[in-house]
Amino acid sequence: MSMESIPKDLRTARACLVCSLIKTFDQFEFDGCDNCDEFLRMKNNRDNVYDCTSSNFDGMIALMSPEDSWVAKWQRVSRFTKGIYAISVAGRLPQNIIREMKSRGIVYKPRDTSQR
Ligand SMILES: [Zn+2]
Repeated sequence: MSMESIPKDLRTARACLVCSLIKTFDQFEFDGCDNCDEFLRMKNNRDNVYDCTSSNFDGMIALMSPEDSWVAKWQRVSRFTKGIYAISVAGRLPQNIIREMKSRGIVYKPRDTSQR
């Protein structure tokens, strides 16, 4: 599997608010999110990394073959890239990004399962 999407340093790890992929701040800034950068545009944009990822997440799942994993289906990440995913991500996506996703026909489901 690609080592590019594995967090190199868990102390600076953050999870994407949209797909819950975990990488370090630098990896998000350098490569953007492997699943969502089309609309989150975090690549080379520190502000967007701050806005669209959270350092406050719970649980980790290593996803090796998302296509045939029941865990991936459970977490609604079966169409995503291989990598490490959080089970719950606390934080809110900015309104303008939610609107942008909507205009692309993507429904934003908050990844925060710690509260209702
Ligand atoms: Zn993402």
